[in-house]
Amino acid sequence: MAEAVVRALYGGSTSLNLSSKKVREVPQCVSRLSNLSVLLLNNNCITALPVELLSLQQLEELNLGNNALKEVPAVLGHLESLKKLYLYSNQITLVPPEVLDGLQNLVVLNLNHNQIQRLPPEIKSLRKLRHLSVLDNKLEEVPDELGLLTELSEINLTSNQLSFLPKQLYQCKDLTKLHVARNKLTSLPEGIRALTKLQVVDVAGNKLSMFPIEFHLLPLKELYCEGNRFVRCEPVSSVQNVEVLTLKELVARFVLSEDRNRSSLVHRMLPHYPSLSALLASGSCCAVCLGPFLTTWLECVHFVNLRKDMKMRRSLTIPVRALLCSYTCFNRKGQVYYGVATR
Ligand SMILES: [Zn+2]
Repeated sequence: MAEAVVRALYGGSTSLNLSSKKVREVPQCVSRLSNLSVLLLNNNCITALPVELLSLQQLEELNLGNNALKEVPAVLGHLESLKKLYLYSNQITLVPPEVLDGLQNLVVLNLNHNQIQRLPPEIKSLRKLRHLSVLDNKLEEVPDELGLLTELSEINLTSNQLSFLPKQLYQCKDLTKLHVARNKLTSLPEGIRALTKLQVVDVAGNKLSMFPIEFHLLPLKELYCEGNRFVRCEPVSSVQNVEVLTLKELVARFVLSEDRNRSSLVHRMLPHYPSLSALLASGSCCAVCLGPFLTTWLECVHFVNLRKDMKMRRSLTIPVRALLCSYTCFNRKGQVYYGVATR
């Protein structure tokens, strides 16, 4: 090992490969290789990094995979040139927020196969991050701040303990691959259509009962969804109660539909009532008549075929959520929506 370091030192190397050399402690002389841009330390027995490594200010790629680290070493927060950081297969339980603050140029972060329970909100510092992988950890939630990583194109959260995803994730407009298989998700947040570049979704092995509204309008190429609890299409008898809308709902529907008309007085006045606008912002529109509603709807699904309706290879049928404004629309001839029975 020392030989490799000496050779690198005198050769003026920009990369050093010390992988699979039974390294326990990174030799301090490595810190003298200040031109180093790639340092491979994977497949060793490293438990900590010496602070002297902060002299590696040109370092762009660091592989510490398959070692014995218990937390993300603090010195990494001072390696501001780092673009690719691999920390897979260690025993990491903690990602200190201050380390993330210093990694503003990071593009790839791989934390697979560790024991991480939470990612701190300071993850928002990684503004240039494109690939985030935290596969096989113990995450119970991910921070809303993930939505601030607008360069993110691939995220892998497979095999964690997630029971929900933050809706802010849909602010990552460049996302092309979303892997969240083998978690405890019961639903995906609404608004997924904002991810206009999404090509691969893996939600296999969760507890989903249906996909969110307009899921079938995504430009997907691959979808993996085996092992969920999707609603099935089987007839059950039901009694429809005559619906009586509240005054609030009636007025909201009136205001929302007036607001669609640019020449209407309501449309022009609404911006002067911010609290009212905020209240109405949670409204949605009927899948059948396209009319607006606020808080009263019928939850339905329609069954979408991946091949026929989404131009994908597989001929699988999935339930996609849809909201209807009234039984009048539900009972309309020719509509394709099914009410969801809970048992
Ligand atoms: Zn309707």
